[in-house]
Parts: sequence; C-alpha cells; structure tokens
Amino acid sequence: MKYIFLTGGVVSSLGKGLTAASLGTLLEARGLKVALQKFDPYLNVDPGTMSPFQHGEVYVLDDGAETDLDLGHYERFTHSELTQFNNLTSGRVYLTVLEKERRGDYLGKTVQVIPHVTDEIKKRVTELGEQSGADVVITEIGGTTGDIEGLPFLEAIREFALECGRDNAIFVHVTYVPYIKAAGELKTKPTQQSVAKLREIGIAPDILICRTEKPIDDEMRKKISLFCNVPLAGVIEEIDVDHSIYEVPLMLQREKMDELVCQELGLETSPADMSDWEEVIKRIIQPKYKVRIGVIGKYIDLQDAYKSVYEAVTHAGGANDCAVEVVRVDSEDIERDGAVAHLRELSGVLVPGGFGERGIEGKILAAQYARENNVPYLGLCLGMQIACIEFARHALGLEGAHSAEFAPKTPHPIIALLDEQQNVTEMGGTMRLGAQACRLKSGSKAAELYAVEEITERHRHRYEFNNVYREKFEAKDFVFSGTSPNGNLVELVELKGHPYYMATQAHPEFKSKPVQAHPLFAGFIKAALHLADGK
Ligand code: GLN
Repeated sequence: MKYIFLTGGVVSSLGKGLTAASLGTLLEARGLKVALQKFDPYLNVDPGTMSPFQHGEVYVLDDGAETDLDLGHYERFTHSELTQFNNLTSGRVYLTVLEKERRGDYLGKTVQVIPHVTDEIKKRVTELGEQSGADVVITEIGGTTGDIEGLPFLEAIREFALECGRDNAIFVHVTYVPYIKAAGELKTKPTQQSVAKLREIGIAPDILICRTEKPIDDEMRKKISLFCNVPLAGVIEEIDVDHSIYEVPLMLQREKMDELVCQELGLETSPADMSDWEEVIKRIIQPKYKVRIGVIGKYIDLQDAYKSVYEAVTHAGGANDCAVEVVRVDSEDIERDGAVAHLRELSGVLVPGGFGERGIEGKILAAQYARENNVPYLGLCLGMQIACIEFARHALGLEGAHSAEFAPKTPHPIIALLDEQQNVTEMGGTMRLGAQACRLKSGSKAAELYAVEEITERHRHRYEFNNVYREKFEAKDFVFSGTSPNGNLVELVELKGHPYYMATQAHPEFKSKPVQAHPLFAGFIKAALHLADGK
C-alpha cells in the first residue's frame, strides 16, 4: 500500500482538493486503484451544521455523510467510493477519543494529543487503505501549514510515513507563488517559509505544487528547488486554468507529476491514458452552442455555496456541445424588481436547495415565471418544494399555500414535516440523508430521461410534499413522476404540456460527473438550448 499526503501552504483556497482529485484521475488513468480522503482540522464533528458562508456547500454521500465539498471533486474526478470514513474532522477525532476515555478504554492513562489523538488519525489512514483495497491512498489535510489546529494531523502523518517506510509514502505540498505587479516578478519567499514551517514539524516535502498566475521559468524553479530542498523535477507548476477545472489533470500530466509520483513510490505502470478525459475537455471548452440560464438562490455571491450545481450544469453543457453561462440571480432581487426584470434574457431557470425563509418569495416568483412562460425549469430539493407551493397558489388557487418550514400556521401546508422528523431536536446528521430509492412513473419525462424504472439519488431534507394535496394537483396536469418505492414520498414532479418543468426532492447534482452528465441536468440544458435556438 502506498500513501500520498497532501498539505497546503501560504494561503487557503489554492485548490488543494482539486489537485488531490486530479492526481487521483492521473493515477487511475495509469490503471491504479486510488482511495481519497480529507482531514479537516476544525472542531465541528462534520460540516453538516455549518453555514454556506463559512464552508461552501455541504456535499452529501450515498451513505448520508455530510462532508466537505472537496469530496465532490474526488467523486467527479475519480471512481473512488466515498463514505463517511473519507472525511475526518478534528471534532470527530476528539469526540471518539473522549468517548473512549469516558468508557475507560485508556485504562487510567493520561489522555494526550500525542499519542492518543494522533493514533486515532493514523488509524483512519490505515483503515481506509485496508477497506478500499486501493493501490494508493491520497490523504488531503485541510487548512494551511502553520495553523495551530492542523498540528496533530501533521504530526500524525509524519509518524505514519516513518512507520510505513519512506519508500511507501510521499509528501506533496501545495503552495502559492504570488506575482507582484509593481515588481513585475513572481516571489518565492512565501513558499520558502511555508516549507520551512513544515520541516520544523519534521515533514520534508517530496513534491511542491506551485500555484501561480504566471509561468514559472527555469531560474525560478531552480531557486525554489534549492531553497526548499526539493529535487528540481519535484517543482511542479500549476498555473491558473483558462477555461475549466477539468484541465488540471492534463496540466499536471504535462508537468510529469504522475510519472514522478510513481517513480518515488516505486509503482510500475503504463503511462496515463487520458484520451476520454481529453474528449470531455474538448466538449466543455470548445462547444458549438451557447446558452444562458439563471440559478436563483440566496447565497449567490458565494463561489462555493452551489458548487456541485454549477459543476453539474457544466457537465450537462458538455453533453449538449454547449457552453452554459450561469447568471446568478439573488432571489431577494426578484422580490424587489419582479421576475421579468431578472429572468427575461434567460433560457432556463434553476432553483437549487436551501434552508430558511429569506428569499423564498423570490424563488416562488421565478418558478411562476418559468411555468407561465414555458421557460425550462429545474428544481432541486427546496426547488421542488417551491414549484409545488407556486402551483398550489397560482394554478390551484390555494391562497396562502406554503411550506410548514416557513409558515407553520399556513392554511395549506403543501410541504410538511416528514413523519420521521416530528420529534427531532438535534440539528447535526438528523435529516433524511443519503441515497434513497425512487420508482419512476412510466411514460413520464423523468422515466424517459433516466431510461430506467428505479433510481437512487442523494437526499438532505426534513420536509416533503403533503399527500393530502396529490389529487388536486393531478387534476391539473401536475405529474408526480417519481415516488419512494412504497408510493408514500414524492420524489419527482413535472408538468404535462410544458417544454421542461422538472423538480426533484433529491440532490441529483451530487451524482453528475464530467464524463457522465446527469440526465435531469442534460435534459434541462437541452430544453434551454431549444428555447434559445427558437428565439
Ligand atoms: N429546507 C427544505 C427541507 O428541509 C429543503 C432542503 C434542501 O433544499 N436541501 O426539506
């Protein structure tokens, strides 16, 4: 078993997760089986209770684990099968250690960061290796070198590498080489200092991934190599990509990163065959057509709040040979100016998931606009609930129809609390989570798109469609095209006679991949393209 540990230096947001995932893509293309995991130094037990302002989107796995969005990159870039064991926070580590202490498992010893916390961390690396049967385990350490919180993780991987033999583990450090405009130069000092910090802890990186806006010339590479004590071949340039994050694996391949990793770990493989990937990139960056859609949300200014939704839209663009320009519309702006002002120029309206009352009315207006003007609509989780509330109010005349989440006293609770949620008081990990089965109605648009009868999609919600209203909806061409296999829970809805009005209680965005666009997204973009063409 071989291990790669990835750390980050200088600043956050360098795309460490993307780099780890891209390395995974390359190693898989060499025929190796990889497993990826992320360690996060913060004290939350998982990111499930964190606001998108703090942490971007919460990425949900099949087993219902609420994880860091980097795991989304891992799944989109590789075939690594991820579960709750692929994301570990300091909070989880301490919780485990303290539970053991309370049970008396430490037999009266003083419980300490070293060895008890570090042992717990090391155990997770070993376990993932054993459970996955992978050739290579890639472990990304979140945060930035020098953070107090990250120290136990760095100590743990240092020990781990020593114990598993230095031929079996390498350290990759992702660092930043800033361009100082006034000097007209790239600067290596932050990288030198970041590496010095790592070496203080006892970790000497084998490879440096240098994130940069400008090409790093040979002189600069030599300087970094010499001052950071990393062989010249190990100084890898990772320049900002022009078009798409899916170019990163190809860029690292050009820098011979996968070759070097295999050499250092003594892995003999054939060169990486990236032809499928190159094909995907071509479709994403040199498309024939163009279409513009709107994503209506309340965290629209945040780059990462709807990460997987934006990625899924890109994949769907690729599948339709089409560039998708996403216009991010703040639902509160729609409340202020009306839907037409913001949506007139768009060929599709997408309402993603969300919690809390703010901006809800703007989303309802957006759904109404799409329904009444035959503009393609895709609703995801909250976006389905919105579509149902809108239909109840404006097509069925049920005045004041709402979700019990936002208006507990509404006369028409179209969306109500799931039975299983009635007595839940804890916030973390208590929603209806993870993969849930859904049976599709034959003859529906959903069945046509998925091209199978039964599907599973990932979930993260507390509320659901209230079955008391089903017949009323059905009488007006509203189709319940997917339900849980026992028929009780509404999973997918659509509108008869509309070019594309599709909404799901699930989060299909979590299962879309660049090489395999999700059918609901692909159908949405196809319909949007159709509308744009006809204009
Ligand atoms: N707030 C809604 C619920 O809990 C929708 C959740 C979501 O969009 N993820 O049911």
